[in-house]
Amino acid sequence: MSIAPAQTVVLGNRFARELPELALPWQADATPDPRLLVLNEPLARELGLDPGVLRGEAGIGLLTGTAVPEGATPVAQAYAGHQFGGYSPRLGDGRALLLGELPDGRDLHLKGSGRTPFARGGDGLASVGPMLREYVVSEAMHALGIPTTRSLAVVATGRAVQRETLLPGAVLARVASSHLRVGSFQYAAATGDVDLLRRLADHAIDRHHPAAAGAEHRYLALYEAVVAAQADLVARWMLVGFVHGVMNTDNMTISGETIDYGPCAFLDVYDPATVYSSIDTGGRYAFGNQPVAAEWNLARLAEALLPLLADDQEQAVPIAVEALGTFRPRFNAAWRAGIRAKLGLSDEHGDDVVGPVADDLLTLLRDNSVDHTSFFRALGAAARGDAEPARRMVLDLAGLDAWLDRWRGLAPDAAVMDRVNPVYIPRNHLVEEALEAAVENDLAPLHRLLEAVTAPFDERPGQERYAAPAPGTAGRYVTYCGT
Ligand code: AMP
Ligand code: MG
Repeated sequence: MSIAPAQTVVLGNRFARELPELALPWQADATPDPRLLVLNEPLARELGLDPGVLRGEAGIGLLTGTAVPEGATPVAQAYAGHQFGGYSPRLGDGRALLLGELPDGRDLHLKGSGRTPFARGGDGLASVGPMLREYVVSEAMHALGIPTTRSLAVVATGRAVQRETLLPGAVLARVASSHLRVGSFQYAAATGDVDLLRRLADHAIDRHHPAAAGAEHRYLALYEAVVAAQADLVARWMLVGFVHGVMNTDNMTISGETIDYGPCAFLDVYDPATVYSSIDTGGRYAFGNQPVAAEWNLARLAEALLPLLADDQEQAVPIAVEALGTFRPRFNAAWRAGIRAKLGLSDEHGDDVVGPVADDLLTLLRDNSVDHTSFFRALGAAARGDAEPARRMVLDLAGLDAWLDRWRGLAPDAAVMDRVNPVYIPRNHLVEEALEAAVENDLAPLHRLLEAVTAPFDERPGQERYAAPAPGTAGRYVTYCGT
């Protein structure tokens, strides 16, 4: 069925053509009563799509995959993955479809579009709440300057989805520089077909790490580029207090974009042990474990790439180990540069000075259960001479005052701080409030929240409640995965 939808939309099928072994042609389920809940007009325009057309019948057909442009080949992508440390050889898009590549090369992808042959026991569906959560959080991450998949639209399908209760169903349309995952490489490697693995690596180099193409050892250069991109990415998460929640290898991209927002949430109080996901009972993906989890995933990517790194495994392993060894220094450098900016400190002071100042502050924040986002923003005011907002958040005032004296002695620059310490993040209680209202057909709270979090650094009058910590519930928030 190919009604020309958003007339001008052209979708490529490069992934399906170059990697047919990983692409299963499939169609989205019909939607009984589709209703557009939210459309990202700036993103649509950036992609050359007319928001007016997307709001119409043909546009909704595109955004739900029920009317794809002529020539498009929607596919379910095959991938494997380690989930909470256990290997699953065949995951794949159980409820998602890659519609194709947009003219700028990015993927247009749907989530919640019906069962595919990878669905295993799942129903192939998604409900309104979690799809809107991905929309809000991914757009907030983008506004924070953190690489991420983008959200183009959420359409309610009119079909009920059975979870603990019956919930309204929805499809999320998202855009990503690609959907290649560590798990894609694990899947290709497991087939034993080295030609497929090589084609996948070449595809990834061409789309994401083109500099590797000119390297003496292109596949090693690809691996090093992924290690670097992920080290930088996870450092950004740590600096802003983002907890991904389900860092399985199928949820880690080759591009270095954040992907698959499930049980994710932002820290309220600063505590490295924070876990929000109801299924992460062991705390594997706790806030403070994220760098180690990323490194572990990258070791699994190295294993998958071994056949491309050298002619025999014995030679390949030390090459991979050495390359993986660049993760920690790269992460540390990215994190230190970031915390330096959050504290408003210039390069004039070495890491030997800034490092202990940062570490001591984080200990103070943890010990005093201080709201992470509010505190760093209040520190900007302290750099301008008003320490009261920061002091109001900390019980150990003697400890804080001593720390403030040390830090002020380093001449912090408040303007630098205000550019990197957000005022507005998608706070858990506000996300919950917006999603609950949306499920009851009131989209106003969602739009107000989006307005706040898509311009996170720019403090606006009237938006105070979007800057304030949750009233007294911090630390007990629970998120539910993939529902
Ligand atoms: P996630 O942890 O949400 O990234 O999903 C892990 C795997 O489970 C992927 O292969 C998904 O496609 C699949 N999956 C999750 N939820 C569903 C569902 N409701 N129906 C079918 N497959 C699903
Ligand atoms: Mg996933």
